[in-house]
Amino acid sequence: MQIGFEIERDEAIANTMRVPAFAGRYLRICDAHAALEHEKVRTDWLADPKTLIVGGGSNILFVRPQVEKVVHLAAATFGYVDEPHTVLAWAEGGLGFDDWVRWTTTQGWYGLERLAEIPGTVGAAPIQNVGAYGMQLSDVLISVDVWDRVQQCRSVLPAAACDFGYRYSCFKAEPHRWFILRVTVRLRKTAPPDWPPLNYPGLAQAADSFAHEANRALPLLTPCDLAQIITRVRRQKLPDWRELRLGSLGSFFQNPVVSNSFAAALKQRWPDLPVYPQAAQNAFVAESKLSAGWLIEQAGWRGFSHNNAGIYAQHALVLVNLGGALGSDLWDLAQRIQADVFERYGVQLVPEPLIIDN
Ligand SMILES: Cc1cc2nc3c(=O)[nH]c(=O)nc-3n(C[C@H](O)[C@H](O)[C@H](O)COP(=O)(O)OP(=O)(O)OC[C@H]3O[C@@H](n4cnc5c(N)ncnc54)[C@H](O)[C@@H]3O)c2cc1C
Repeated sequence: MQIGFEIERDEAIANTMRVPAFAGRYLRICDAHAALEHEKVRTDWLADPKTLIVGGGSNILFVRPQVEKVVHLAAATFGYVDEPHTVLAWAEGGLGFDDWVRWTTTQGWYGLERLAEIPGTVGAAPIQNVGAYGMQLSDVLISVDVWDRVQQCRSVLPAAACDFGYRYSCFKAEPHRWFILRVTVRLRKTAPPDWPPLNYPGLAQAADSFAHEANRALPLLTPCDLAQIITRVRRQKLPDWRELRLGSLGSFFQNPVVSNSFAAALKQRWPDLPVYPQAAQNAFVAESKLSAGWLIEQAGWRGFSHNNAGIYAQHALVLVNLGGALGSDLWDLAQRIQADVFERYGVQLVPEPLIIDN
């Protein structure tokens, strides 16, 4: 009989920063339904707040290398429900997020293409509401199927209940509560009116040269083409997470969101500082988003390295493991950058990844 899971001891935890990380006990779930039938899985593993859920390890920095218990969802089936003009595409949490994006774009469906080339799993994507090139997962997300680790029951949360924001969700707010089993998005079968969406720095130029090479007018680009264009642009700026050369977690810091008046004061002193008005999240104070990369670059950190922990030469927001750095080396560097940026600009940088440090 299929029990739906395997338990390992002293298992290495894969992570794209490529720092040493180990789990004393490691539960790999290959059939979520079967595994959740077992009381031990529900109580000993999932109900224990010390259990860490790990997907692809592309947004976790293991400063402390040893973790007591890890749950990893490997269940990765996917499918869709057809609708007249749209589809409801769903995938289990263990599927590679980029594999899902590529599959949907290959079907000719519009909606996920700008999220191409983001590493990690489908199950982790709603946690920080992954976003890139002017869109976030929440733009197309319909619902998230979860196991509630506190109430010990399954439920389906509609998008409106997930409290999505910039790199934020209710799942991030309660990190020990939710185990994401499945994600459903609604995608269009035909191009939206503003197709192709190129209002992001660098994208229009890359799309022009792609369209020129393919001898195709811009409006005729397919979702697959746009995913390919995004892939090209990203590879110029980010280390390739598929190769073993450099470890990274993508952008290490969130772009800071500050009050408009504070942003204006900074802008007066540093006129080149990129400032983006924010859709109101706080009803009382109008807010703006600053470029964390610009702040770090202007502070002179781009290309710096110490103990094989460095800042990527092509992108100041990316911390890299040049080979053999420990999580603590990278965290030391991140904290030095935080302190320096705060001293220079009065801006507190917040890390994007989960930091496992105590
Ligand atoms: C080169 C590179 C580029 C990147 N580019 C982007 C980008 O453009 N935009 C962006 O938003 N992010 C980006 N990231 C960050 C990262 O890929 C995403 O945050 C991704 O969603 C993390 O997926 P993961 O499976 O690796 O999660 P993990 O790193 O394994 O986990 C991240 C968090 O999710 C939790 N988690 C994982 N799976 C589940 C689950 N099934 N249920 C509940 N909780 C879970 C973990 O406990 C942890 O808190 C990038 C990372 C890299 C290395």
